Amino acid sequence: MNKKVLIIGGVAGGASCAARLRRLDEKVEIIMFEKGEYISFANCGLPYHIGGTIEEREKLLVQTPEAMKARFNIDVRVKNEVIKIDTKNKSVKVKNEKGEYDESYDYLVLSPGAKPFVPKEASIESDKIFTLRTVPDTDRIVEFIKDKKPKNAVVIGGGYIGVEMAENLTEKGINVTLVEAAPHIMAPFDSDMITLGEKELEENGVKVILNNAVSEFYDEKDKLKLKFKNGEEVETDFVVLAIGVKPDTEFLKNTGIELAERGHIKVDSNLNTSVDGIYAAGDAVEVTDYVNGTKAYIPLAGPANKMGRIIADNISGIKSEYKGTLGTSIIKIFSLTGATTGNNERTLKRNNIPYKVIYAHPASHASYYPGGNPLTIKLIFNMEGDILGSQIFGYDGVDKRIDDIAAVIRLKGKVEDLIELELAYAPPYSSAKDPVNMAGYIAENVIFNKNEVILPEDIDKRDKEKTFILDVRTDLEFETGYIDGAYNIDVNEIRDRLDEIPKDKEIYVYCKVGLRGYIATRILLQNGFKVKNLTGGYETYTASKFVPKGFDNDSSFNKEVKEEVAITDYQVNRELDACGLCCPGPLMQVGNCMADMKDGEILKVKASDPGFFEDIKAWCKNTSNELLDITKNGGNIVAMIKKGTKVENQVLAKPLDNKTMVVFSGDLDKAIASFIIANGAASMGKKVTMFFTFWGLNILRKNEKVNVKKDFMGKMFGFMMPRGSKKLQLSNMNMGGMGAKMIRKLMKDKNVTSLEDLIKSAMDSNVEVVACQMSMDLMGITQDELIDGVKIGGVGYYLGEAEESNVNLFI
Ligand code: FAD
Repeated sequence: MNKKVLIIGGVAGGASCAARLRRLDEKVEIIMFEKGEYISFANCGLPYHIGGTIEEREKLLVQTPEAMKARFNIDVRVKNEVIKIDTKNKSVKVKNEKGEYDESYDYLVLSPGAKPFVPKEASIESDKIFTLRTVPDTDRIVEFIKDKKPKNAVVIGGGYIGVEMAENLTEKGINVTLVEAAPHIMAPFDSDMITLGEKELEENGVKVILNNAVSEFYDEKDKLKLKFKNGEEVETDFVVLAIGVKPDTEFLKNTGIELAERGHIKVDSNLNTSVDGIYAAGDAVEVTDYVNGTKAYIPLAGPANKMGRIIADNISGIKSEYKGTLGTSIIKIFSLTGATTGNNERTLKRNNIPYKVIYAHPASHASYYPGGNPLTIKLIFNMEGDILGSQIFGYDGVDKRIDDIAAVIRLKGKVEDLIELELAYAPPYSSAKDPVNMAGYIAENVIFNKNEVILPEDIDKRDKEKTFILDVRTDLEFETGYIDGAYNIDVNEIRDRLDEIPKDKEIYVYCKVGLRGYIATRILLQNGFKVKNLTGGYETYTASKFVPKGFDNDSSFNKEVKEEVAITDYQVNRELDACGLCCPGPLMQVGNCMADMKDGEILKVKASDPGFFEDIKAWCKNTSNELLDITKNGGNIVAMIKKGTKVENQVLAKPLDNKTMVVFSGDLDKAIASFIIANGAASMGKKVTMFFTFWGLNILRKNEKVNVKKDFMGKMFGFMMPRGSKKLQLSNMNMGGMGAKMIRKLMKDKNVTSLEDLIKSAMDSNVEVVACQMSMDLMGITQDELIDGVKIGGVGYYLGEAEESNVNLFI
C-alpha cells in the first residue's frame, strides 16, 4: 500500500514539504489543505505590492493548485480548513464551502503558520483597521488606498512587517506614524544599532513613536481616533496592526499534540511532534536557538522552508535533522539595510552568557571606487573566540557580510575564521581586507588584550574624576562635534604631547570609527598610560544617542527630499565627488576646493560618509560659507555651498558682531573688568561668550564648600586656590588681602556694582559663561563646585563662538 500524507498549510513549510516529498517518492499520495484561497504565495512580498514596487499582483502568486498538480501530482485543496484531528484513528476533519468531511492519513504534516495578533482594544467594528498576512489582506489595503485616497496612516508595531509597511505606505505618499510600545523598534537588533534604522525612518518622513501604545480606538465615520497611553490623541485615516504573530494552532488543542505555553508546537530535532506520525514545521513550531540552545520562537521563511524539506526526508526514510535557528534576517528601511544573525546583547544577558562587543565602520568596497559607503558592523563574541551574533547596517553590501558571519557561526567557526575567510575582492565589490575580515581583526585585538574597548554606555557611566576623555581626531573634526568633556589631541601629535594627558586617570580614547583610537591606545599603553578605546568611535557614540522626535516630528526632512529637484536649479561652478572618503576627508576636500573659488560661486559636493550630513552644516557655519541646500539620497549626501561671507539669510552671513573673552586670570580686578565689559556688550544687545580657563575658573567657584569626591591632586588644588569670587586677590598692591578689601569698599562707596552682582547681572542678560572642561579636569574642579548657570565646554565650542565674533579678549 502506498503511503498517504496529509499536509496542513499550503505556503512556505507546507508547499516545500509537498514538493520535496514528491521528488523523493513518486508513489506517495499527497493531499495539501489550505484554508485560504492561495497556496505558496509570496507573503514576504506583500508590503512591496502595497507600496507599488511589485506592480503586478500575479507576481505574488508563485504557485497555483493547477500547476502544483501538473508538475508534482499533488492534490491541493484550497478553501479547505482542517478543523479537527483524530490522532487515534489517524484522520482529520475538513471544512469547506460544501460542508465537512474526514480524510485518513499515514503521516500528517502541520505547517499552519502564525497569524497577526490583534489586541482586544483594537477588536472594534471598523473597516479602517487592517492586518497583513494573506493576499486578500493585501487586496483590502490596496483597494482602501485606491478608493479613499488616505493622507495619514498609523502603523502599530515596529517589527519587520510594521517597518516594511511604514516604508511602503510612505512610498504611496501617505504620512505614516509608526508606534512601538518597547523603547526601540525591531527587537532582534540591539538598541544601539536600531537607532540607525529609526533615524532613516524619521529622515524619510515617518513619525516614530517609541515607548507608547494605542490604548483606545474609536471609529468616527470618516476617521479613526486613537488615544495613546500617554494621553496623546491622534486622528488618522487608517491603521495597520503589526504587533506580532501568534501560532495558528487553536485547532490542535485537545488532540494530544503537545503545545508550548504560547501555543507553539513542540517538536524534536527530526521535527516529530509528541504524536507518532505527525510532524510540524514553520512559524507554528517551537525551535531551538542555535547559539544558546534555549527554546525560541523565530518566525522566518528560510527556516520554515528548510523544515518542510527535512520532514519530507524523514517521511521518505532519509534521516534528517533540524539543528536550530540562528535568526538570520534582513530588512530594507528606505535606502538603508539592516541585518542580524545569532544572539543580540539582550538575549545573552537574559541567559547570563558572557560576551564582548566591537563595532567597525569599514567601507562597503574600496573607498577610491565610486559608490562605496561605510557599514556599521557590530560583532558579539566571547573571549574563547566563539561568535555569538552580529548586526550590520549600511547602504551597500550588508547582505553578503551578514551571510558570511551567519555561515561562520553555523559552522561553529571562530573570530579567527572571520580573519582567515578568503573573500572575493575587486574594487567595485569589496576591499582586500573585507569588512568581515576587519571585524575579525578588531575582535582578535580584544581577545589578545591588545586593545581594551569600551562601549558608548561606559562613557556615559564613567567616573569623571577618574577618567579622561581623549579625542584623537583632527581639530577640524573636533570642531564639528565631540563627546562632552573630551580633550583633543590629533593622533599624529600624540607622541609629542604626552605631557598633556594625565597619568593618574584612566584614558578613554576615541576617534571617528575606532581605528585611530586603536593606534593612539597602542602608543599610550606603551608609554605607561591606562587606556581604553571607544569601539566604533564617535560614529557609534552619536548613533547610539539618536532619539526620534516622536510626535514633534514635522517630517521636514521629507520636504527637503521632495524639493530635491530644485537642487538642479543652482548654477553650479564646481563639482566635487568625495564619496568613499571618511571624515575629515570630505571636509578637507571641500576646504581645498573653496580656497580656489571666488565669492558667490557654488560648489556641489557629493559625499557618502553619513557624518557629512551634520559635519558640513557645522563647517559652513564656522567658515562663513552658505549652505544653500543639502539632501540625502540613499547613502549619498549632496550639498550645495555658496562661497563667501556676503551671503544673506544666514546667521553667519550677518556682520560678525558677537564678543568673546577668554578669562584666564583669577585676579579680582581682572574679573571685575571682564564682567563690566561683558555687561556693557550685553546691554548693547550683543551676544557675549566668556570662556573661563585655568585660574579664571576660581571666579566661578561657589563661595561655600561643596563636598565632592576628589583625588589627591584635586584636593591639593582645591585647598590652595581661592574658593569663589569673594576670595579673589588683586593682581597688584594686594597687601596680604588688604588691597582686595579696599577696592570692594571703594566700589561700594562709589556705587559701583560688586563682582558678585556683576556676575549675576551678566548671567541674567544671557551672557554665556563657559567653564573650560579641560582646565576643570586638570585642576580637579567639578561642575557641582561651580555657580549655577555655568555651561561646560571645550576649546572647540569657544573657537566656534570666536569665529562669529568681532571682539575677542584674553584677560
Ligand atoms: P505560512 O507561510 O503562514 O503558511 C501557513 C498556511 O497555513 C496559511 O496559508 C494558512 O492559511 C494555512 N492554515 C493555517 N491553519 C490551517 C488549517 N487549519 N487548515 C488549512 N490551512 C491552514 N520571513 C522572512 O524570512 N523574510 C521576510 O522578508 C518576511 N516577510 C514577511 C512579510 C509578511 C507580510 C508576512 C506575513 C510574513 C513575512 N515573513 C518573512 C514570514 C514568513 O512569511 C513566514 O515565516 C513563513 O511564511 C512561515 O511559513 P509557514 O509554512 O510556517 O506558515
